[in-house]
Amino acid sequence: MTSALYPADRLGRAATAAAAAGLDALLVTPGADLRYLTGYDALPLERLTCLVVPAEGPPTLVVPTLERPRAESSPAGALGIEIVGWGETDDPYALTARLLGHARIVGISDRTWLMHALRWRDAVPGVRHELAGAALRELRMRKTTEEVAALREAARIIDGVQEQIQSMRLLGRTEREVGRDVADAILAGGNTTVNFVIVGSGPNGASPHHDVGDRVIERGDAIVFDIGGTTPDGYCSDITRTYVAGEVPDGFDKLYAVLQEAQAAACEAVRPGITCEALDAVARDVIADAGFGEYFIHRTGHGIGLEEHEEPYIVSGNAEPLAPGMAFSIEPGIYLPGRHGARIEDIVVCTADGGERLNLVTRDLLVLEG
Ligand code: ZN
Ligand code: ZN
Ligand code: ZN
Repeated sequence: MTSALYPADRLGRAATAAAAAGLDALLVTPGADLRYLTGYDALPLERLTCLVVPAEGPPTLVVPTLERPRAESSPAGALGIEIVGWGETDDPYALTARLLGHARIVGISDRTWLMHALRWRDAVPGVRHELAGAALRELRMRKTTEEVAALREAARIIDGVQEQIQSMRLLGRTEREVGRDVADAILAGGNTTVNFVIVGSGPNGASPHHDVGDRVIERGDAIVFDIGGTTPDGYCSDITRTYVAGEVPDGFDKLYAVLQEAQAAACEAVRPGITCEALDAVARDVIADAGFGEYFIHRTGHGIGLEEHEEPYIVSGNAEPLAPGMAFSIEPGIYLPGRHGARIEDIVVCTADGGERLNLVTRDLLVLEG
């Protein structure tokens, strides 16, 4: 059975994209690229698993013989591609080299382990290696209708977790204790994996990638909850809401109002043709005009799909224009060192004539009494 999420024409489109990028073949190792092309969620291990996609000719999936049943029972088994096993004493790099034939410029998937890439370099002297992303980024950036539906479902689940946080007991508990409850809720909501849980209370909220610590949440804390999971389909969620516990700290309501305006302005600016850097500037200008510019210390957002962070990156210097199907976060933040921080993050999809926010849970400043 081929799933609508892994259409069989994807391999053909990848071969066409490889040729267009000047590559004779792609070598795709376990990870999001392999899942995207075949639906096979292989283990990234020292034993080589690799999909060989020649720009012209049929693709082959090379797997350790002991993992062959796993590969055959995955969606890859229904794609009609040849699956070749290698035994424990075989040389899988020489095997791949034979499959590559006369290929001279080969794209290796971007997150391949270096130990594999260097073995290929030694196995086939004279071949130039490039990043397969040159071919695959265009495909992966533009989500199909089915992929957007999968992201919408991921967003629906994680929205429900934010709603549960709003009635959790927070005061007098550590970030770690609260974070454990949040992680449980992420799984109970229907995800297979907890990708991350950030609970940044008080001064910890000023560190954007703080995870959880042993700080006890107190009355008057602003708390940043940035959470994400992966659904059984393999698609990721990512949402941030910032709440306050008991009472609003001094000056925080003004900061939050600026942030809310910046985030809304960027979401409303999403449409085909606007560049990633122009979209970043929409959020940044609102924050800078209010005097908080130096406290917005990261890009406005990142693409999302089979990976939590992928292209396109919504950042100054990225002239990539948005196109329908692109999915990414809009997540400006303001971080006052030693005091507190705030971030509001939604996943937005570029549509034919604008943008669709996938996260719908309220962005109003909530004072939680729990
Ligand atoms: Zn982040
Ligand atoms: Zn996030
Ligand atoms: Zn994010």
